[in-house]
Amino acid sequence: MTNRIVVKIGTSVLTGGHSRLYKPGMAEIVRQLAELHAQGSEIVLCSSGAIQAGKDRLGWKTKPRSVAEKQMLAALGQSRLMFTWERLFEIYDIHVGQVLLTRSDFEARNRFLNARDTFRSLIKHRIIPIVNENDAVTTEEIRVGDNDNLSAMVAVLADADLLIMLTDQSGLYTADPRSNPDAELIKEVPIINEKVKELAGGKGDMGTGGMATKLQAAETATRAGTDVIIASGSDKNIISNILAGNDDAVFTRFPAVSNPVRNRKRWLLAGSTPTGTITVNEKGCEKLVNEQGRSLLPAGMIKISGNFNRGETVRIQQENGQVIGRGIARYTSDDLRQIAGKHSDQIEKILGYAYGNVAIHHNDMVLLDN
Ligand code: GLU
Repeated sequence: MTNRIVVKIGTSVLTGGHSRLYKPGMAEIVRQLAELHAQGSEIVLCSSGAIQAGKDRLGWKTKPRSVAEKQMLAALGQSRLMFTWERLFEIYDIHVGQVLLTRSDFEARNRFLNARDTFRSLIKHRIIPIVNENDAVTTEEIRVGDNDNLSAMVAVLADADLLIMLTDQSGLYTADPRSNPDAELIKEVPIINEKVKELAGGKGDMGTGGMATKLQAAETATRAGTDVIIASGSDKNIISNILAGNDDAVFTRFPAVSNPVRNRKRWLLAGSTPTGTITVNEKGCEKLVNEQGRSLLPAGMIKISGNFNRGETVRIQQENGQVIGRGIARYTSDDLRQIAGKHSDQIEKILGYAYGNVAIHHNDMVLLDN
């Protein structure tokens, strides 16, 4: 069964083609997500519609030109949007948590890790994160700009198995189905190449994204190991049907191209330059090398060299100086110096805060074949 699913809902689905949030449609989506939640799936919802909800609240017919007024609408509409989602999920006794992100949260490694920790905690406590771009304060330079790409970045961040983008079309067609009656739905796209990209027409009416941004998003997510599905949000029971593997469910599927751990490890080996070194005692090294899935704990560390930040790549070496691997540090070098040799229970007491029990998580580590 697919376990962790990001569902992205565009403005056109939220409004059901009207100018305001269409609550019966939202209720339908919540019902399906609640069902999956009850079956044990972990769900992240990426919801657009803030600016549209703000516009509707003030009775404005068109989007304002000024950035300040758009931001104002986003602030007004975002709380409206969350209020509506919250009340609908409450029917099923499901808690939701709002996460507002911008591009800079993905680019700086320490912010990426912070955001990832937030998602992990929410998911662990069975709270559904509801994500949108932080439109009320985000300037052009640091915006993702559309929720298709945002949802893909969230899928990478949350290590999702599947990203479902619900929109006003059933998927990717051989031509624009709105103007061409012969257009046929493509059921599966194994590789997103230039030819596929040419099929993506222009933008839809209300949201920011069109098929082009959906394909960009599908490219990002599939490369990181997440399967992607584009489907119509107005198809009855679409989410449940996709997950149940029902034959009559209509959608386009983009299978993941590789597995995320392998990608990440390749990045660790090839892409990143270590900025420091952690020396680990013999027992610690033995555990890392011989026991699968082991993380590096502060208790096994005897020396920290160099100055590095949380999220930077460091070498892991034995006492004799032999490098055994690389990994991404969860704590700064200064923090690690203070907690080296200590039991993880003491981290919070020593530092006054904790980012978890491990210095390097096994998912963020690659051991070299010596
Ligand atoms: N973040 C925008 C909003 O909530 C939507 C962006 C999009 O639709 O792609 O209004």
